[in-house]
Amino acid sequence: MDYTGASFLTGSKVNGPHRKVIVQKYGGSSVADAQKIGGVASRVCRRRDDGVDLVVVVSAMGDTTDGLITLARAVVGTASSPDPREMDTLLSTGELVSATLMAMAIKARGYEVISLSGIQAGIRTDATHGSARIADIDTGRLQAELDAGRVVIVAGFQGLSDNGDVTTLGRGGSDTTAVALAAALKAERCEIYTDVDGIYTTDPRLVPDARKLREIGYEEMLEMAVLGAKMNPRSIELAAVYGVPVLVASSFVDAPGTLIHGGVSTMEVRRAVTGIAVDRNIAKITVRGVPDRPGAAAAIFEPLAEAGVSVDVIVQNSPQGGVSDMSFSVSEGDFQRAREILENGLKAGHSGVLAQSGLAKVSIVGTGMQNSPGYAARMFRALGDANVNIELVTTSEIRITCLVRKEQVQAAAQALHRVFELEKPGA
Ligand code: ASP
Ligand code: MG
Repeated sequence: MDYTGASFLTGSKVNGPHRKVIVQKYGGSSVADAQKIGGVASRVCRRRDDGVDLVVVVSAMGDTTDGLITLARAVVGTASSPDPREMDTLLSTGELVSATLMAMAIKARGYEVISLSGIQAGIRTDATHGSARIADIDTGRLQAELDAGRVVIVAGFQGLSDNGDVTTLGRGGSDTTAVALAAALKAERCEIYTDVDGIYTTDPRLVPDARKLREIGYEEMLEMAVLGAKMNPRSIELAAVYGVPVLVASSFVDAPGTLIHGGVSTMEVRRAVTGIAVDRNIAKITVRGVPDRPGAAAAIFEPLAEAGVSVDVIVQNSPQGGVSDMSFSVSEGDFQRAREILENGLKAGHSGVLAQSGLAKVSIVGTGMQNSPGYAARMFRALGDANVNIELVTTSEIRITCLVRKEQVQAAAQALHRVFELEKPGA
């Protein structure tokens, strides 16, 4: 007996035909002023006319969040930092402004609508102020509002901790709110509207031939996002776990966007390399003369981790004469700190530190590369022919990353785009 089906039928008798739920999210640039809020309101109303149940998550208007952070820092002065609890409540107000204004704009167009704060929307989080994680969503209120025929606007980026305090989910957290709501409501899909019209094979400012992808898999998107493509990686992880299809599209023009979903390899011709991700602002540090004994690497990386320096590509040479060299990359923002920590820590046993900034990461990404040899060779050949020197290499199952000098990153991206024929649709 299919009891799930049975309860579904009972529900539809009470509430009329079961309708599909769509969760949309509009970012700060899409709701930056009254006129843009009006434009989004009109789009939401048109979508509502299609007969779908709509939940709309909004970010704070324009640079509101940055402005609030600046204000908070100004009132506490440089000697201390703002109280995390107060900071979260302060920052949550940005999204309340855009959510309430959006609801008013939609109501003025003659539609039934209500705005809800994160708390009212039932979003429960842990108590980590500034980067809280969603623990649970009680969809009761949301579902009741949808059943009452209302469009529901939800203030993004916020929730309520077990202590009863407002929390925020970290910068760019409205994407996470939207995907989490889509998962909790078992929505058809989550639509992220932003100032770019989709995910491209690479940064179009570097490679004019860059092409908008019709679709991309979660894993590939995650690699692209971590390496700079415009999406909050946490929200993609969440979408992958719950199997929520995510559409990324423009909030300003009606153009098809990019669908991020799980079934790509069966739906489109499987291409080996899907995209080229670029991350500038990388530095490399080489630690010389690391003793060849257990615990030596830990002695180097533990102090970095304690200082919150995140280390990426790590390469260790094979030891000679009882010592080896270890190289790794950090973001340029962490560069000075990492260097000082290592130079002050020579007692850990290493003999010296070499540091080089002004680097960039260029990666080829694609699930089709899994278990197929030859991609690294083709990548290195392409970079060699373009006269680009490789400083470090690292791979994952679906990615090969090379560190190159920053001024060569454009040449590198163009060469790789050409060699892997990314300008050709569905090749
Ligand atoms: N307003 C928040 C921020 O600027 C959250 C978001 O935009 O998603 O980070
Ligand atoms: Mg924002």
